[in-house]
Amino acid sequence: MNMLLDSSFKLGYNDVLLRPKRSALGSRKEVNIHRELKFKHSQHTFEGLPIIASNMDGVGTFKMAQTLSKYKMLTALTKHLEIDDLINHFKKDNQYTIYSLGIKDEDFQKFKAVNQAVTIKWVCIDVANGYSERFIDFVANFRQEFPDKIIIAGNVATSDITEELILKGADIVKVGIGPGSACTTRIVTGIGVPQLSAVIECADAAHGLGGLIIADGGCNTTGDIVKAFAGGGDFVMLGGFLAGTDQSQKEVIEKKFITSQVDNNNQIIYETKKFIQFYGMSSETANKKYSDGIKDYKTSEGREVLVDYKGSVDKIVQQIIGGLRSACTYVGAINLKVLPRCATFVRCNNTHNKILE
Ligand code: 5GP
Repeated sequence: MNMLLDSSFKLGYNDVLLRPKRSALGSRKEVNIHRELKFKHSQHTFEGLPIIASNMDGVGTFKMAQTLSKYKMLTALTKHLEIDDLINHFKKDNQYTIYSLGIKDEDFQKFKAVNQAVTIKWVCIDVANGYSERFIDFVANFRQEFPDKIIIAGNVATSDITEELILKGADIVKVGIGPGSACTTRIVTGIGVPQLSAVIECADAAHGLGGLIIADGGCNTTGDIVKAFAGGGDFVMLGGFLAGTDQSQKEVIEKKFITSQVDNNNQIIYETKKFIQFYGMSSETANKKYSDGIKDYKTSEGREVLVDYKGSVDKIVQQIIGGLRSACTYVGAINLKVLPRCATFVRCNNTHNKILE
């Protein structure tokens, strides 16, 4: 039988930690967590904190883009916004907002309508499976028609197609098959590559050609974000980590829970907790909302969860900035650019790495 087995070790974020090192840095304040990046094809540049809000409902919203742009962070808007609203938004901010589209003809026509009214700078050509020839051809044709757009293309998880997408015109390849917090691809299909190894291998391939990558999905803690950058991610994309905030533009759901306490009248004390709905973009919930349910030849590869309501996303940004600065001082990295060179991963039993409850 001609089955192939790649027996090299593949690691997820939970399988490693970063070893602390002698550091000349006196304070976390000395660390520069912004990056200046130049794009291979479009020749544009980026200066800012290279973190991107994912194009998911409750994350890639206009309000998220308005808030994150203050920190020079990017937002990939969801694919399902109205043309007029998109035009209004891009008139105000095309520096830190990314237009997302799929590869259907209607997606392309919608993009052209918006782009005719207002200049779009960043484009994310986004499909679940970046290995299809149709997708790769779409990226190549898009580059020919729009030589000056910053093109992000994904998702993939291996070096071969990363290289191919860059050679065909992508400035940035989005890496991640199956690590997402609301994703069930690995369970439903058995497909995926552990995310840290995917990031390390795809970054190496992309950088060799002057391209860049986004580590997309699977960052559940600020430590995971640090590991994604240390592994060579030029940008990190976050879904669940930024969900459940005021910027989600979603209803806050209150639920009552029984506590183990009673009051003076011996009545059970209840506590109320707040949540916000969050779901994968190929979940049943998203399919019902945008495409009349799941077609009979498809299955859902996403799930719906209630995430804790976290208040404004500003607090989360502060946690991310704090975590990044602190990590860089631990390994002696003066800035985010040199972090991969300063980082040594140690493999560990992933139980050492779990969040303490
Ligand atoms: P997170 O930061 O929540 O771990 O991951 C976010 C990423 O998960 C998104 O940027 C996207 O690439 C991926 N994703 C979003 N929705 C779905 C889905 O329904 N199915 C799958 N397989 N991946 C999803």
